[in-house]
Amino acid sequence: MAIETMEKAADALPALSPEENLRYSRHLILPQVGPEGQRRLKAARVLVVGAGGLGSPVVMYLAAAGVGTIGIVDFDTVDMTNLQRQVIHGTADVGRRKLDSARDRVADINPHVRVEPHAVRITSRNAMEIVRAYDVVIDGTDNFPTRYLLNDACVLAGKPCVYGSILRWEGQASVFWAERGPCYRCLFAEPPPPDMVPNCAEGGVLGVLPGIVGCIQAAEAVKLVLEVGEPLVGRLLIFDALRMRFREMRLRRDPECPACGEHPTVHELIDYERFCGIAPAGAGGETRMADAQGIPEITPTELKERLDRGDPITIVDVREPFEWEIGNLEPHGARLIPLGELPERVGEIDPAGEIVLQCRSGARSAQALAFLRQHGYERLWNLKGGILAWSDQVDPSIPRY
Ligand SMILES: [Zn+2]
Repeated sequence: MAIETMEKAADALPALSPEENLRYSRHLILPQVGPEGQRRLKAARVLVVGAGGLGSPVVMYLAAAGVGTIGIVDFDTVDMTNLQRQVIHGTADVGRRKLDSARDRVADINPHVRVEPHAVRITSRNAMEIVRAYDVVIDGTDNFPTRYLLNDACVLAGKPCVYGSILRWEGQASVFWAERGPCYRCLFAEPPPPDMVPNCAEGGVLGVLPGIVGCIQAAEAVKLVLEVGEPLVGRLLIFDALRMRFREMRLRRDPECPACGEHPTVHELIDYERFCGIAPAGAGGETRMADAQGIPEITPTELKERLDRGDPITIVDVREPFEWEIGNLEPHGARLIPLGELPERVGEIDPAGEIVLQCRSGARSAQALAFLRQHGYERLWNLKGGILAWSDQVDPSIPRY
């Protein structure tokens, strides 16, 4: 049995106070929980990576359920755009560290829960130490490098990893636990190319969706601690909120899996940004495009100085038309060519001119830059941080979104 608290004899489990007995009374009368199960929950140590959309319901429900120790990994601060789905944070928390906001909320939900804050980006250097200290790991991140990193760390440490992911109207959940079934790499041995899958900042996400998927993750974590029911091991649950449908895919362990197969090649954690073909994720944990690919960048301040000097620069905005409507750099000569239309409209861009590519935060414009470079364009810049950074550094009248 990999979960250490489960090995503890009933008499080694912590006792419940009269107040806790009252608080958990609806659990205590459930045959699958009962007083011993509740004491198991109290003894349990669950790690939640990311206090964002998925982490919000996970942390709140685990705290309410009486999981004694919740580790939270997050280095981000609360942003106004988070509040549409990250319900552990409130309007008054904007600008605060997510860790502080989450800890305050947990203290209010259940003062018997101890939060262990990890104010770091989880990396190959610190992941094993952090993961080993917990019984169950919950992946609440939104980028591929961290997903592979957590998978490999959990395989190496023998821990179950409760996976969840969300985009637009669709979510997925599973439990990857190499000791009992397949791991994430059995399913996806190789990451998708970095420009294939948009993140929620680019593709959008229904605010309710992480609530549903995160609650599934929380339920799985509680079941794993209690050792009851059938966990999502070897099953990928796919949820479509638009059609309100759940589907299930059977997952098989891959004997050739590099992490958990018969001849594993992953014996220690690797450089996951390089593995996924992208640069280190920016604040917010969102997948960013690489300057590992040599993407030349210009800051909004530098661009403004050059425009003011009258340098002939063409700004190409590769966002969608509705984003252009929110705010744009048209007064500076920007023109709109959405990323998806670039292949057929590339002829509209003068290859001899100097071009600055711009999007919301700099990820799509980096893809556009790589595309133009493949088509022989040379004098290219990516606007660092996109129009959001322009709003921060040059013109606050441009709305942030
Ligand atoms: Zn595997």
